[in-house]
Amino acid sequence: MTAALKDGLARNFVAGQWVEGDVGAVIPVEDPGHAAHFADCAQASETSVATALEAARASFERGDLADLQPSARGRLMQRIATEIRNIADEGGEVLCRESGKSLEAARDEFEEAAQYFEYYGGVADKIEGKSIPLGPDYADYTVYEPFGVSAQIVPWNFPVSIAARSLAPSMAAGNSTIIKSPELDPIGLAMLGTALERADVPAGAVSILNGLGSDIGAKLVASSEVDQIVFTGSVATGQAILRAAADPVTPSLMELGGKSAAVVFEDANLDTFIASLQSGIFYNAGQVCSAMSRVLVHRSIYDEAVARAAELANGLSVGHGLENPDLTPVASALQLERVETLTATARQDGARVAAGGARLDRKGYFMAPTILADVDPASRVAQEEIFGPVTCMTPFDTEAEAIALANGTDFGLVAGIFTRDLARSHRVARKLRAGQVFVNEWFAGGISTPFGGVGKSGFGREKGLEALFNYVRTKNIAISLKG
Ligand code: NAD
Repeated sequence: MTAALKDGLARNFVAGQWVEGDVGAVIPVEDPGHAAHFADCAQASETSVATALEAARASFERGDLADLQPSARGRLMQRIATEIRNIADEGGEVLCRESGKSLEAARDEFEEAAQYFEYYGGVADKIEGKSIPLGPDYADYTVYEPFGVSAQIVPWNFPVSIAARSLAPSMAAGNSTIIKSPELDPIGLAMLGTALERADVPAGAVSILNGLGSDIGAKLVASSEVDQIVFTGSVATGQAILRAAADPVTPSLMELGGKSAAVVFEDANLDTFIASLQSGIFYNAGQVCSAMSRVLVHRSIYDEAVARAAELANGLSVGHGLENPDLTPVASALQLERVETLTATARQDGARVAAGGARLDRKGYFMAPTILADVDPASRVAQEEIFGPVTCMTPFDTEAEAIALANGTDFGLVAGIFTRDLARSHRVARKLRAGQVFVNEWFAGGISTPFGGVGKSGFGREKGLEALFNYVRTKNIAISLKG
């Protein structure tokens, strides 16, 4: 077992040291597949928060990352990728048990994390400014400078890969970074500290703190020692953080929730759509910000699509994450309660339950894979993020109506189109209010394609080269050559 987890207690990685918190300040971590205690997590003490902030500042001032030769920074990041792969088996099992996700999905998180470090390690020496022509009497150029100390708040649905998604570009740009892990499943992310330690990341350049959002998270984002906030999580918390960031005027990046629609046209390949539906709403038990939580289907194929979706849902295998089933539990008793309660409002609002609809009668926090049909687009289940294995199906008659329905929520994270008509796919994609549009494959794209929201889904972009520009600020240097 790595130093991140000692005698059943996950520790904080602070300025290169593994530390516990104040005596008794422990967060219990459950195994949602068994609804049983799994381990404990030491909540960072106030001293640890202060030490992490001071060490991050000192590391930045020393230029530990920013003043490294960019190619050497890139090589450091490649070493981190290697060390992440070295802990992927051990880390994957821990993450599987603390989050409830499948073992395969948990290992994939570590693999994806490694890929973020490879990708951004590869661009560390390619963050190039511009030369701007001002005539013969001037030389003018821009440089991209790191912010300084980046505070990054991570959600529980993909703690390891989302942390890497922000940490890797932050490091590539030369920032110091402090990560606040999610309280439900902090241990896999704490283990990322082991990879950083083994790769010889300078002490203080990255710290990982555990603790409650309302305590450690709130302290971090309100600190005037933080130069940038990167938040991935719910809209309500994002709004609270933006309010906290207003006083010190701290630049913030917001990756928030979604209520994303797939639009299935009459010429769609239904096999393709059903395969996408399975990953789109049942992967990670639907606890995915970009989940296919709404499905709009042309009326001519609507009944067939609902029947096939219900058949898919009813045929899924269900089990503990270690068994790699199709459907795993949701992350906590509270999450199960939220999902079930919101789903129950659908019936009162006139929807038909085509599959599932309630929790499963078994140990662990299992929600039945659920297909809601004839969902009123104005109802709560069609407007609010459920964050569970539940999708809402609604028929449409015209392309214009489908676009209006797809765009008819406060969110705008992703959207999907299923059609064989190439011209229509381009036309509709441009009209959809979303940061990214998938055509004929939900989740198409990857670490190199920009990702982020519109409206209450947030602002700024993660992934791809575009993300780098969230982690730097532009300085223009204008030089008069007139003597
Ligand atoms: P959450 O908002 O409850 O918590 C996210 C993080 O914020 C946690 O680490 C929590 O401890 C911390 N936090 C809570 N209150 C805080 C405060 N006042 N100050 C600072 N930090 C605080 O979200 P969650 O339930 O962990 O995650 C699920 C949500 O995240 C969903 O809405 C989902 O759509 C969204 N999400 C978005 C993306 C994206 O890229 N857009 C990715 C994954 C998840």
